[in-house]
Amino acid sequence: MSSSQYDVIVIGGGVTGAGVARDCAMRGLRTLLLERRKPAMGTTITSTHLIHGGLRYLLYDRLTTHTTCWDSGHIVRIARPLLQRLPIIWPVYKGHAHGIETVETLLESYDRFQQMKLGLPHLRLSAKETLGLVPGLKSEGLLGAVSFDEWWVDPEALVNANLDSARRHGAEVRIDEPVTGLSRTLDRVHGVEAGGQMIRASVVINAAGPWVDKVAGLADKHIPLRLQKGTHLVYKEKLTPFGLLLEAADRERYVFVVPSPQGTLLGPTDLPFPGDPDSVVTAPEEVSYLLSSVKRYLPQFPKRYDSTVVGARPILGQAGNEKLLSREYEVFDHESRDNLAGLLTIGGGKMSDFRVMAQAVSDLACLKLKHPVVCRTQHETLSGEPIATFPEFPRPWRPLKKFLRKHPRLRELHAMTYLAGAFGRHVTRRPFDGAGPIDAEAFRKYYSA
Ligand SMILES: Cc1cc2nc3c(=O)[nH]c(=O)nc-3n(C[C@H](O)[C@H](O)[C@H](O)COP(=O)(O)OP(=O)(O)OC[C@H]3O[C@@H](n4cnc5c(N)ncnc54)[C@H](O)[C@@H]3O)c2cc1C
Repeated sequence: MSSSQYDVIVIGGGVTGAGVARDCAMRGLRTLLLERRKPAMGTTITSTHLIHGGLRYLLYDRLTTHTTCWDSGHIVRIARPLLQRLPIIWPVYKGHAHGIETVETLLESYDRFQQMKLGLPHLRLSAKETLGLVPGLKSEGLLGAVSFDEWWVDPEALVNANLDSARRHGAEVRIDEPVTGLSRTLDRVHGVEAGGQMIRASVVINAAGPWVDKVAGLADKHIPLRLQKGTHLVYKEKLTPFGLLLEAADRERYVFVVPSPQGTLLGPTDLPFPGDPDSVVTAPEEVSYLLSSVKRYLPQFPKRYDSTVVGARPILGQAGNEKLLSREYEVFDHESRDNLAGLLTIGGGKMSDFRVMAQAVSDLACLKLKHPVVCRTQHETLSGEPIATFPEFPRPWRPLKKFLRKHPRLRELHAMTYLAGAFGRHVTRRPFDGAGPIDAEAFRKYYSA
């Protein structure tokens, strides 16, 4: 290890950067994190607040769902007091793009991953049961529903708990401290410029979410992104007893209604945003889209919301239709990629796999630093208690993941093949299975387990 002030400087105090700082500090690296604003106030706070497996990626990018469920399982174990199980009801109506058997097939497939993240197998509900569970839900045309569960989290608390853990392991965290430059020679980054100072480090990790390209630009490097903007309407009141997943007004997408101790989120939208992430704002059409989507099912849902929140999903640059974008993460080694040592970028991913993203980039930092200490972030809770044992589930097979990343059509075909298997299971199981629990109490009991 060198005589720099720090072994590692992490740029960005969203969930990814906070996870990286924790991981590096736990491995004994002298770590500094720099965040230009307050922690979590970038994309992380604009999320739907779910640690989820990515149900819809099962349609075209199964291995991302697999990775996300795998890592969500670790996140649930390390951050359990910050999470609440959220049952989500997906009502299906006559004329919906996806019929109830298709929807249940998808959930049948998701069940295989749910156990990784302490989730429960889905339930199927009759129209009557559904109406009993969701007051005010439109009855006309309702065929029934399926339900599944994800984990609600306060993203700010999750980031702060990671930063506290990082500090306890010796990391330094500076907030309101933007990185304004990278100090470099022709082929190496030596540190960063921040607060009018040059701060030296052996490795600089760019974990700036949708700003990774801007930060890489400080060294004249480029990270291709395909940002997608997303807006939520925020209500201070809790407006539904359970989460809802609703086919949106355009019949192509879905929106969530997410009740929580903080109120209710309605959203998100999902629109291409090729601009500067600093200039992302909610358009009036997004608000009307969300309201008209929810009012198709809940006519009494209030039009008056308390605020809006908007962010840009940090999706990596890739070819193909915007509805089929992979949410996979990637570590960029600027030494092998751009002949610029001392700089790593972690891009893409989700809040739901931030821990493994942090592990991947910290592994590479350790390799560069010749510091052979393995990741321990899954063995200790964020508040410091050891996690003695947990079931180890298999991870996706890396060579296949790498191959499919480059071939989106085959990736979709791969996903479809598994869905065909799930359909087979669904049709053989269904006749023997009944229609799930019969009343609200049984439903609540099931999800409070
Ligand atoms: C609408 C929407 C809904 C989503 N819902 C979910 C969900 O429910 N579940 C889920 O898993 N994922 C969700 N995501 C994705 C998830 O929010 C992001 O993948 C994740 O929060 C990205 O975290 P990050 O730390 O990489 O980026 P950010 O949270 O954006 O953090 C990057 C940080 O870098 C800082 N920064 C930038 N430039 C500099 C600089 N020069 N110097 C210092 N600091 C700098 C920024 O201020 C920012 O705080 C959603 C995203 C959106 C937009």
